[in-house]
Amino acid sequence: MPDTVSQPRLLLRRLHSVMGGDGGAQERLDRVVRVIAQNMVAEVCSVYLARAGEVLELFSTEGLKEEAVHRTRLHVGEGLVGLVAERGLPLNLSEAPKHPRFAYRPETGEDMYHSFLGVPILRHGKVTGVLVVQNVAARLYSPEEVEALQTIAMVLAELVNSGDLVNIDELSEDATALGQSQTLNGLSLVSGIAAGVAVFSKPQIRITKTIADSVREERQRLEDAIAHMRLQLEEMLEHPDLAHGGEHREVLETYRLFAYDRGWQDKMREAVGSGLTAEAAVERVQQENRARMAKIRDPYLRERILDFEDLAGRLIRIIQGETGDERQQLTEDSVLVARTVGPAELMDFDRQFLKAVILEEGSSTAHVTIIARAMGIPVMGQIPDLLSHVEPGDEVVVDTAHDHVYVRPNEEVIESYRDAVKVQEQLFAEYEAERGLPVETLDGERVDLLMNAGLLADLPSLDSTGAEGIGLFRTEFQFMVSPALPRVDEQTKVYSAVLDAAGDKPVVFRTLDIGGDKPVPFLPREPEENPAMGWRAIRVALERPALLRYQLRALLYAAAGRSLHVMFPMIAEVAELKKCKAILQKEIERLDRFGKERPKEIQVGCMFEVPSLAWQLDSLLEEVDFLSIGTNDLMQFFFACDRSNPKLADRYDMLAPSALSFLRMVIAACHKADVPVTLCGEMGGRAVEAMALVALGLKRLSVSPSSVGTVKRLLRSVDMNQLRAFLVEHIQSPEHSVRDSLIMFARDHAIKI
Ligand code: PEP
Ligand code: MG
Repeated sequence: MPDTVSQPRLLLRRLHSVMGGDGGAQERLDRVVRVIAQNMVAEVCSVYLARAGEVLELFSTEGLKEEAVHRTRLHVGEGLVGLVAERGLPLNLSEAPKHPRFAYRPETGEDMYHSFLGVPILRHGKVTGVLVVQNVAARLYSPEEVEALQTIAMVLAELVNSGDLVNIDELSEDATALGQSQTLNGLSLVSGIAAGVAVFSKPQIRITKTIADSVREERQRLEDAIAHMRLQLEEMLEHPDLAHGGEHREVLETYRLFAYDRGWQDKMREAVGSGLTAEAAVERVQQENRARMAKIRDPYLRERILDFEDLAGRLIRIIQGETGDERQQLTEDSVLVARTVGPAELMDFDRQFLKAVILEEGSSTAHVTIIARAMGIPVMGQIPDLLSHVEPGDEVVVDTAHDHVYVRPNEEVIESYRDAVKVQEQLFAEYEAERGLPVETLDGERVDLLMNAGLLADLPSLDSTGAEGIGLFRTEFQFMVSPALPRVDEQTKVYSAVLDAAGDKPVVFRTLDIGGDKPVPFLPREPEENPAMGWRAIRVALERPALLRYQLRALLYAAAGRSLHVMFPMIAEVAELKKCKAILQKEIERLDRFGKERPKEIQVGCMFEVPSLAWQLDSLLEEVDFLSIGTNDLMQFFFACDRSNPKLADRYDMLAPSALSFLRMVIAACHKADVPVTLCGEMGGRAVEAMALVALGLKRLSVSPSSVGTVKRLLRSVDMNQLRAFLVEHIQSPEHSVRDSLIMFARDHAIKI
């Protein structure tokens, strides 16, 4: 195929002039197909176009039987053409008829062709057709040929997506799905309730011109746009919301680094060199990135590619003349709706009116989630087909507590949610006003109420909630958003900032809980059957002790002259804890060797997340200064029930008599050994659970900042002795859960649950 590879520009021009020539759309398509067949030295070239009902219709062919045109139809997923459409990826086969998905259509006469190369024709990332070449000889097409056909498909998309061949409306999403009120289910990523009108991230990009008139000029347009985009990102990092450092800032800095990525730029320059316009070149490279993404399972890498997607969109807009400097103007409470949003995009919106974000994709570790959390914006993700259910201007209500998004709800629902938002704001104001009150039950029992944190952005909550300290600081976020292992001085900086912000209040740092479902970019990852029970947390740290050593070193540096509380996650046996302590001891000795100041006091604890520890409690408690019960993990292992599987979310209740008896036993053992015990799982932040836990004897809870006010108000309304007597009796029951009995008790005794 010498022509296509060595003279791509000539071919593109030729196609362009044929596409823009005389005759109807069908005639021009037929001519284009002939040109492609000639250039690719292919015996067959065919174009299949998507029609309503997920069907692909043969629209034009050179080489297959004429009578098959407009007759041969395949469903998406059916046959090889359907497979290309289903996956949205090229398919390159030397022996097509032997492929299990080959669907023989006698009217086409294609059984004599052995090699097959099909590529998708795309519009806004959706497949609108499939371009195929076939040859009699069995051979695999070269990577250059595959690329060339993809570029041709992109140019061909201009004609296909013009609406002259298939009416674009025919392919728009099921219109009946719109207009009616709907409830969509998703996954809560940043909690909260909010209501507002739907706004879409940015108008979808339309590339109307793909072939360059002058390669020199297109090169210049690309270079200018890259320079402009970099400037924009530098300015974004100056934004007041990001003035204080933190993980969200790191996310943006990493993202900015991509804007300087040489590989990405070289590919775009190369694409311009092949005769595409600057915007088509960016899109072409992005299509390749998307195809690569489809094959990547690693969530971290997938997010990096999403960052590129965001940058590419930004770049195309700049090329097309949008300066990008204007912020997205919002004039009323709004909910951002998108398939996915890049980390910087949120910063383009007016914070005052941006009330929530809902995403078709999204995950708890996605960069947008981290930024939104830092900005206090609720996020709901993983809503299948979101974009086909919502239109700009629709009323949307987001309720993460129930994992629901209401689209076009009736007036009553909107009103009640708007009221709920107001009540919530009022309640938070009241909690803030109550922050100085002691956490004490009606009968005088004091409880230490601490909060969980993981971002520097969480720290102001210490003051606003009145929490008595940080019972769990999850250190992994800094590692998850950083492309390389953060250096000791970088880690020290974060830990110092946390201790500075906490002042006199204690902070318990948990060492890295990475691996499993919390991937970090600098550690090799192999797929695991059960990541939650796999190579994670302390198991990684003990196998890569340098990781733990450096982190402990950073913690010791940061806590010089102050108190350091450190604990280790996922300990399953005392021997593991001893190894951790030995590493810590060496680091303390190192401080002395280098004449560095020691912390004024060091307290060492461990997480109780693995049930096996229950049978080593006595020796464990001799080794620790404190224990922290992590019910999120503990309960998934206790019930053998995956905590992240939504199907199992309601299967077992943490208020089951068995679970409460188990916790009671652990708490009692800690009291007996005089070892302070905290509970830092999400369970502690829920009202009914919190009252049960304190009734079981717990005197310290560490909960998310948003739960501090609720739990405090609840505990201040309980007579603990009465409740304890009631619970002890019910904990023996063979019931599924004691929840209902506890709720009843709370109602009867005016407890504020
Ligand atoms: C827990 O398992 O309860 C816990 C607090 O740890 P994480 O949620 O970070 O796994
Ligand atoms: Mg855990």
